[in-house]
Amino acid sequence: MSRYSTAQLRQWDRDHVWHPFTQMQDWERDDQIVIEKGEGCWLIDTDGKRYLDGVASMWTNVHGHCRPELNQALKDQVERLEHSTLLGLASEQSIILAARLAEITPPGLDRVFYSDNGSTAMEVAVKMAYQYQAHRGRPERSRFITFRHAYHGDTLGAVSVGGIDIYHATFKPLMFETVQAPSPYCYRCELGCGDNRTCGMKCLEALERIIQEQAGHAAGLVIEPLLQGAGGMIVQPPGFLKGVRALCDRYDLLMIADEVATGFGRTGAMFACQHEDVVPDIMAVSKGIAAGYLPIAATLTTSRVYQAFLGEYSELKTFFHGHTFTGNPLACAVALKSLELFEGDNLLEELQFKISRLNERLDRFRLLSHVGDIRQCGLAAGIELVEDKESRRAYDWELKTGVRVCLEARKHGIFSRPLGNTVVIFPPLVISNDELDLLLDGLYRSIREVTGC
Ligand SMILES: *Cc1c(COP(=O)(O)O)cnc(C)c1O
Repeated sequence: MSRYSTAQLRQWDRDHVWHPFTQMQDWERDDQIVIEKGEGCWLIDTDGKRYLDGVASMWTNVHGHCRPELNQALKDQVERLEHSTLLGLASEQSIILAARLAEITPPGLDRVFYSDNGSTAMEVAVKMAYQYQAHRGRPERSRFITFRHAYHGDTLGAVSVGGIDIYHATFKPLMFETVQAPSPYCYRCELGCGDNRTCGMKCLEALERIIQEQAGHAAGLVIEPLLQGAGGMIVQPPGFLKGVRALCDRYDLLMIADEVATGFGRTGAMFACQHEDVVPDIMAVSKGIAAGYLPIAATLTTSRVYQAFLGEYSELKTFFHGHTFTGNPLACAVALKSLELFEGDNLLEELQFKISRLNERLDRFRLLSHVGDIRQCGLAAGIELVEDKESRRAYDWELKTGVRVCLEARKHGIFSRPLGNTVVIFPPLVISNDELDLLLDGLYRSIREVTGC
């Protein structure tokens, strides 16, 4: 039991907490759920009410909440060392984790640069790519190729390479310029291909033309492999990622893969790039790395990139970037234990059954008259709701249809958070079959209740 009443906590929350991505005027008006405990895939509020964590606590949770082995790893580490800096010192846990990450990521990604969250991991990636080009005598290669609907975080560099207007347009004057390619969003293909997938991926051809126009001025290309998450769970057609890698090779661009959401099992492989045997030049990971316990991130790169930064101190080739809590031992210890659990639990193998089950269970949503598109990638899915199925006309965003579905779902004991009109399914990877059914049944009923079909 909390030492404060729910009413008191709510009052202080209203008075003092500014919530992320939240219109606080709406927030203050309602009585909000205050979470106090977690247990497996469940979140428990101050009144003891349980909610199934349908979005894995902002896409981070892997092995469930308060998993005893992870709790123990954290307790053991805190008794030995809570933090020591990587600026001027090495530390045990960060070394071991870096070696493990080099082992499990695509071959060649051997060098690990730590930071604290997905945005910083991407800032590091962008700055690293830019400085790499300068070091190899190509300072004019300064631009980045990005995709529409991309999301790479909220710091200014990460926003610059992003492509979600509703989040990013306000900050345009503060951003550096990028070159945006069409998103491989088949349901709403901007090249007019429709979603029959017989187009031979015109979006790749469009990308190639854009790269050609930028010839000699592009430092790299930034992509969320297989799945544009925050953009609306947009799933790329098979072969797209491999095609992008081939273009980066052909035009000598660094390929930056943002695996912040897709990394650590979400897509059914440890990393999304592995589905298409793609090795990026730079790869960012964060969300699932420490199983949802602590903020930590890593930007991995190849020895080719790394070695371009080596030189005499006076040459100023140093990568001048770093964060105070870089390589935090507590987070590293939990991350290492999490990787052990992946093996001990046979998690990736077990996951294949759940991915199939999710696929089967999603089928009946297709019959609903306001479900326009269903997109699944591993144990992540998006159900795009539309006002008119025939014409694919979207619901007016001000109707907050996605939000209303999620509010309705709470009545069925489910916590979810939509992306616009797309209902998101992104549970902890350890979700049981029964819990998965509960999640999907609750969302199904909520969609029917809100859209009236
Ligand atoms: C969440 C996310 C980020 C940003 O991570 P933060 O930890 O929120 O800064 C970056 N890229 C992708 C693909 C993400 O899903």
